[in-house]
Amino acid sequence: MESCENLWQLGDTEKVSLAHGIAAQIWQLHARLLEVVSHMDNGGTGTNLGYSNTAALLVHVLRVPRREALHLIAQAADLFPGVTPTGAVTEAPLPQTSAALAAGEISSEAVDVIRKTLKDLPDLDAEKRVLAESVMLEQAAEDDPNALARFGLRVRAMVDPDGPPPVDPEPARQTQVFRYRDRRDGSLEMSAVVAAENAGPLRAMIQECERPRPGDLEDTRTFAERLGDAFAERILKRAANCPDMPLKNGLRTEIAFTISFNDLMRDLDDRILVGDDIYMTAREARRIACDCHLFPAVLGSNSEPLDIAAGAYSTPAHIRRALVLRDKGCAFPGCPKSASVCDAHHIHHWADNGVTHIDNLVLLCPHHHRLIHNSDWTIQLLNNRPSFTPPTYIDPLQRPRTNSARTPLPPRTPPPHTPPLSTPPPLPTTPPPPPRTSLPPRTPPLPTPPPPSRTPPLPTAA
Ligand SMILES: [Zn+2]
Ligand SMILES: [Zn+2]
Repeated sequence: MESCENLWQLGDTEKVSLAHGIAAQIWQLHARLLEVVSHMDNGGTGTNLGYSNTAALLVHVLRVPRREALHLIAQAADLFPGVTPTGAVTEAPLPQTSAALAAGEISSEAVDVIRKTLKDLPDLDAEKRVLAESVMLEQAAEDDPNALARFGLRVRAMVDPDGPPPVDPEPARQTQVFRYRDRRDGSLEMSAVVAAENAGPLRAMIQECERPRPGDLEDTRTFAERLGDAFAERILKRAANCPDMPLKNGLRTEIAFTISFNDLMRDLDDRILVGDDIYMTAREARRIACDCHLFPAVLGSNSEPLDIAAGAYSTPAHIRRALVLRDKGCAFPGCPKSASVCDAHHIHHWADNGVTHIDNLVLLCPHHHRLIHNSDWTIQLLNNRPSFTPPTYIDPLQRPRTNSARTPLPPRTPPPHTPPLSTPPPLPTTPPPPPRTSLPPRTPPLPTPPPPSRTPPLPTAA
């Protein structure tokens, strides 16, 4: 481990690797602590020493709040084998999570998310529990606890699609009412009361779909299904394609800052004047210009407006709609932001001859749009899905990631049962490239060798 004296000599990526390695050691030690707590709780150490219970002893010995003592005991009970009052040893409820924590692969907070997700699925059979746990662990290698918790909701939807029965409120007695509720599979459940004057046109629009398609023996839809299709195809789709339809983000910011084309093409961090007393970096200007109506204010070397067709590099409404259909929201891994707040980012910036075409665009929320323009993350489209390659200091193997909240969960088979580890394994060594389906070891060993240079030039920079 680096001593404090030479930390200042380390490069950015070396400091990141060092922090990551230390965190992994803390997680390993946390697993060890939980194992000891588990033995104390199972063996009655607290009462043996005259305390009322294990928690009271831990409060005294570890000088932690009672809340934290109870938390440790609960974690230990989920991650390590227990002992019944008759002395029989029971299996650890979450053996795979126990092994991952002991290997320094996941944090204590991730453990809590996995515990909660599995706890919310009490009726699951053993095989599905093992499956749900392994799916969560695989995702924990990429997600922070909040994103992992959102992923957990989807895992629940996958392994327990029915869930608790829905609660349908009684329709209020008002002239026109519209109610909707998000369902777990992403669909929308709605009910409406439409006033008589609107009911006529509505009825007319869906009426001809009430009957099965003439001559189509394959049309086995129920009456309700035919009405549903009619509503979606005749009303929703038409409304969405209507040019008068107000789009929250159909048209983007209109900006009128002036910037020389050479400045815009630079990829530097020095600030440049782009308007009356407005300074920004060329990077920032490129990000803002990525998805907006840019007035013809990009100037050539003699301050003449360059003749770039203004409409061509804003994202037209129809392309944006296709983009929303494909990405559904921010495409960055783990991000839950909806499409209405997202920018259409050019993977290859239009200033670098990138086209405003769906194959060159990806939806990003403002936060991740900024990150993509300023960091070494790169984007590719793989199988028509945006795929993000992390910088080496996030993942030395640079395995591409997608937003799990937007990617359909693949069908899964339960993995072989992993017994709990009774002793933590040694510090992880250099990981072999694993198959993508197993939980990837992502903890760099300590001390870390200096990683490869982290400055591939931003290839896309758009
Ligand atoms: Zn962009
Ligand atoms: Zn985002």
